Amino acid sequence: MQAENKDKSKIVVVGSCGIDFTTYAPRLPLPGETLIGNKFTTSFGGKGANQSVAAAKTGGNVYMICRVGDDLWGEKYKEHLKNAGIDVTNAHVTKDTTTGIAQISVADNGENQIVIVPGANKHLSKSDVENAKELIKTADVLIGQLETPYETTLEAFKLNNGIKLLNAAPAMAHIQTILPYCTILCVNEPEASLLVNFNVNVSNIKIALHKLLESGCQTAIITLGEKGAAYSLKSTGECVHVFGNKVTAIDTTGAGDAFVGALASLLVNDKIQPFHQLIGAACEYATMTVTTEGTQTSYPGNYIPFTKKY
Ligand code: ADP
Repeated sequence: MQAENKDKSKIVVVGSCGIDFTTYAPRLPLPGETLIGNKFTTSFGGKGANQSVAAAKTGGNVYMICRVGDDLWGEKYKEHLKNAGIDVTNAHVTKDTTTGIAQISVADNGENQIVIVPGANKHLSKSDVENAKELIKTADVLIGQLETPYETTLEAFKLNNGIKLLNAAPAMAHIQTILPYCTILCVNEPEASLLVNFNVNVSNIKIALHKLLESGCQTAIITLGEKGAAYSLKSTGECVHVFGNKVTAIDTTGAGDAFVGALASLLVNDKIQPFHQLIGAACEYATMTVTTEGTQTSYPGNYIPFTKKY
């Protein structure tokens, strides 16, 4: 199935795809050591794809602009996105390159080690943006992250006439040139800390949000894990902390991506207002995903949100 409802608002994601190879063992191996593990899983990941899937599962009409390798995983990944209802016309294969991967080791005590090889993600280029110019220009929401080349994301943000939502993850300090193009900047606490130059937590969240707004975006959101999310709007000066539901977390991987993807589809759903209600609903969706194992597999479909008042 492709996203082909032309009347429906368009959500365009410029970003990464990756396969997560995860081994579980009693402990992490020492340098040079071989260990016998007890479980191995393979799953679809990458922040861009995670956010696309979350947006599609919450009812969005999603288009993904990305690059995969010409290995076994490239076509598989495109097929997977298609099956999630995402348009992959602009998901390209890079020759002689591997699809992005993360090799993850998890110990019984929860410690982990991760090696990421960006592979084809590194090749997402300004010419990919140029080739999808009309789509990017007319997107109602354009989402970007920082797992693909910064210059490519910046180029896409310069083109778009709609809502530009940047999830500045993984944490990167020098992103000043893109911030004035951001309608919404969304980060977690460590990412916010790097951008504002102090340790962000609930007690200083107002100062941090204010500093993020000063750097050029229109709206700043900081997600706070189990404590929900806080935001500030430049237009009204309001600064609000929205608490999510309390749950027993099993696996929080990809919660931030679920938040961003859900937020995008909520932004084009004009029934969900005002803004704090929208943030509450995005938290509600992200919180649901931490109650089961996995990343994209933990994102619920057929989500009927927002009966609750935040
Ligand atoms: P990231 O995954 O990028 O580190 P956060 O940890 O801030 O981002 O989580 C994003 C959102 O996921 C939060 O705003 C919240 O809605 C939800 N969430 C994450 N962890 C929990 C948790 N332990 N309990 C409830 N909700 C959570």
